[in-house]
Amino acid sequence: MSSITTLQKSHHTLLNDIQALGIRIKNAEDLTIRKGGAGPTDHKAITIFNTTIMVPIYSSSAKNSPFEVTEPSKMGMASLKKDGEIITTIRFIGEPKFYKEKSSDGIPFWKIARLHSKDVLATTILQTCIRYKDKKTSCQFCAIEESLKYDTTIAYKKPHHLAEVAKKAVELDGVSQFIMTTGTPGSSDRGAKILFESVATVAKEVSIPIQIQCEPPDDFMWFDKLKKAGASSIGMHLEAVTERVRNSIMPGKATVSLLYYFKAFKAAVTIFGKGNVSTYILAGLGDTQEEILEMSKKLIAIGVYPFVVPFVPVRNTPLENHRSPDKDFMHGILDPLAFDLVRAGMTSDTLASGCAKCGACSTLSTFEKKHTI
Ligand code: SF4
Repeated sequence: MSSITTLQKSHHTLLNDIQALGIRIKNAEDLTIRKGGAGPTDHKAITIFNTTIMVPIYSSSAKNSPFEVTEPSKMGMASLKKDGEIITTIRFIGEPKFYKEKSSDGIPFWKIARLHSKDVLATTILQTCIRYKDKKTSCQFCAIEESLKYDTTIAYKKPHHLAEVAKKAVELDGVSQFIMTTGTPGSSDRGAKILFESVATVAKEVSIPIQIQCEPPDDFMWFDKLKKAGASSIGMHLEAVTERVRNSIMPGKATVSLLYYFKAFKAAVTIFGKGNVSTYILAGLGDTQEEILEMSKKLIAIGVYPFVVPFVPVRNTPLENHRSPDKDFMHGILDPLAFDLVRAGMTSDTLASGCAKCGACSTLSTFEKKHTI
């Protein structure tokens, strides 16, 4: 078997290694990279073997990574080297065309929503969070309000802003889905009302799948309203799976009990269907492999997709010096988890929309393919 064929056969392992270790790039600051905000900050989207993944380039492990890329060409192509030896060609995802446009009230579209991975439009509707300003309540990994300080976004994206940007992003860049997350407001609906207004307006303008992400609301009737407004999936993110880690890393959010999350998950699955309710789990915050796998089994059993991603530290957060999990730690979770997801018929490619559908922040879907073959 040639070394290239061997490489392609085991590409889930290579992609996992690259995502865990990061890559070194000369003049990294010249590349367009988000600073602060929710979602995959300080990452760069690269396509390798037809799979697009987010790769850290600023983390301390990236600075010492065995992976290095040559200067990208105008088309974004570059050679990927490991320990100095070229192993394949990769492509950096370039800036989308819609970034050059503005809303009807003059706000640059790139401040309203961003391209994630290669074809996902993503926004944080409320760029503020009730838990953020106080260390006693804030999630230590989160940088949601940092991008406001850099003036790279606006605090509230109105429904018409979102509809206008979605229309252009579909027209000019062919985006395939829209993911709307939000900081948590003080109201008991936890942002569901703002998401409802946003989805209803956007769905009248474009017909791409929409995922909404929020904390579990007080009243589960919001799930039905959101679905009827046009959302095809929902993410309610646990981030950590044990009380031990929840209390230390995200003390405010930990006051919403796991019991309540499970009630909300079950109610949401009756509306959105199996797999179209998902939860982000950040591996590397302190939960063990066994704890994450045990929680994932419970989630899969009720139709919730556990989207396990390696934690990547974000600058200007209390965890900016926290280490990412190593590649073996991730492999030890993603391999058996993918097997369980394949067995449950709930793989990334079966989902309607959302981060688990995009899959770029984790290599979980590439492990699913290994178990499907
Ligand atoms: S998985 Fe979610 S957060 Fe990550 S790049 Fe895709 S859409 Fe963005």
